[in-house]
Amino acid sequence: VRVLVCAGTGCVASGSEAVFEEFRNQLEGREGISLSFAPHEHTKVAAVCHTGCQGICEIGPLVRIQSGDQVIQYVKVQPSDVSAIIMRTILHGEVIDHLLYHQQAQYVSPDDIPFIAKQTRVVLSNCGKYEPDSLAEYIYSGGFSALEKALFDMTPQQVIEEVSNSGLRGRGGAGFPTGRKWSQVARQKDPVRYVVCNGDEGDPGAFMDGSVMEGDPYKMIEGMMIAAYAVGAQEGYIYVRAEYPLSVARLREAIRNLEEAGLLGSNILGSSYSFRLHINRGAGAFVCGEGSALTASIEGKRGMPRVKPPRTVEHGLWAKPTVLNNVETYANVPRIITDGAAWFRSIGSENSPGTKTFSLTGAIQNTGLIEVPMGTTMRQIIYDIGGGIKDGGTFKAVQIGGPSGGCLTEKELDVGLDFESVKKYDAIIGSGGMVVLNQSSCMVEVARFFMGFTQRESCGKCTPCREGTKRMLEILQKIVDGRGEMSDLDELDDLAQMVRSMSLCGLGKSAPLPVISTLHQFRDEYVEHIVDKR
Ligand code: SF4
Repeated sequence: VRVLVCAGTGCVASGSEAVFEEFRNQLEGREGISLSFAPHEHTKVAAVCHTGCQGICEIGPLVRIQSGDQVIQYVKVQPSDVSAIIMRTILHGEVIDHLLYHQQAQYVSPDDIPFIAKQTRVVLSNCGKYEPDSLAEYIYSGGFSALEKALFDMTPQQVIEEVSNSGLRGRGGAGFPTGRKWSQVARQKDPVRYVVCNGDEGDPGAFMDGSVMEGDPYKMIEGMMIAAYAVGAQEGYIYVRAEYPLSVARLREAIRNLEEAGLLGSNILGSSYSFRLHINRGAGAFVCGEGSALTASIEGKRGMPRVKPPRTVEHGLWAKPTVLNNVETYANVPRIITDGAAWFRSIGSENSPGTKTFSLTGAIQNTGLIEVPMGTTMRQIIYDIGGGIKDGGTFKAVQIGGPSGGCLTEKELDVGLDFESVKKYDAIIGSGGMVVLNQSSCMVEVARFFMGFTQRESCGKCTPCREGTKRMLEILQKIVDGRGEMSDLDELDDLAQMVRSMSLCGLGKSAPLPVISTLHQFRDEYVEHIVDKR
């Protein structure tokens, strides 16, 4: 029997560590139960483990009791529930109804729960199943077979071709083809190249990459190692958001375990391939998610974007050719190598193959971490997986793509989400933040909130973004406060177009999107704010 206690950030925040400790305290030394894997006769074996995010963050702390193939999912577990779980479930195999999802007997195992059953988990496949730090469990579940295949059965060029053929596009926001990026680095003349992972997930409401780093660190590291082999890099850096201490701890432990096992360092697996990996912690600046700011920050400089070209693939970290992808992109790579490009293309849409992780938050019944095929509709996400609007409310819109994104409304509920489809509505998939809004949400407030965020995070290097976002925020605040004029709407529109077209980096270029999107879709709400004050 294994007791799998969710140690994702959401469950830790709702008290899962106390539940974990209680299980250990009560099981250790208990007569008839051993925490060892070498039990005496008549001894019930139990192991208490942490896992990565089990997904349904809304109803944590989450605990799974696994016995052979059978898994029972308990929700909202408190330390006071632990003795009953040991007595009734671990010792006698009984299910405790009031700890089940929605207390319904048909939802006993995680795969019975619609929130999980209706997802397609590729990147998140291991999250919630075992101890994230355990190299043995990762290898046991097939981990590092992709690296082995790449090193011994494929040339670097074949690896790049496989990734190109898969159609994998960068999951960090822009959706640039990953294979093309790798081939651009591979063909540079400079023999020193770097592989960098962007784990600086700064969008409000987004926690996908953090959950992958916490919940399955080896998978994204394996993806980075395959990228390094493909482009001829011997060194890599993972740039982790300052607010993700758990991710940093898990990655450090993973790197230490890999070094001890000889899977990081020189002559990996007896081959001529060598790779070393470092972790860099960000300092909380959203702009450091931008490629040139991120590499500047790793170099110890102030994290500010620079003019491009040259691009990161030619002139990246320490002015060397650099592959820069985000966590989710790398985590997709091992399955592409083991199962092939055609398998990957069998999931998702034609232009955006594969799956996408989203953090589902806001006025929705089931908030949490989800993964669905590209092309899944908003309706499927909100109603089939998310369980609909919370407290019987009415759906109004989804803010997708965070502060760089826009709103999708009821009219777009049946649009399949992929990189291209949402652009038609002045939105972007972005890294996958999804905030659901109900009938009581004020869309002008939403625009003001995101503009406040980007204005604070503007690095100030270029005037359109520095001054433009400031002026836009002032106007939005004026409208929200009931001091707006109708002419403000035209000025907002003009400023939005100017900031979008003239800013230096992606932060400024996308900062006006929430305003453009809400002005377009909910202009009547702006007008109401202005007219009502008269
Ligand atoms: Fe800095 Fe904004 Fe200009 Fe980007 S667009 S360089 S964040 S001021």
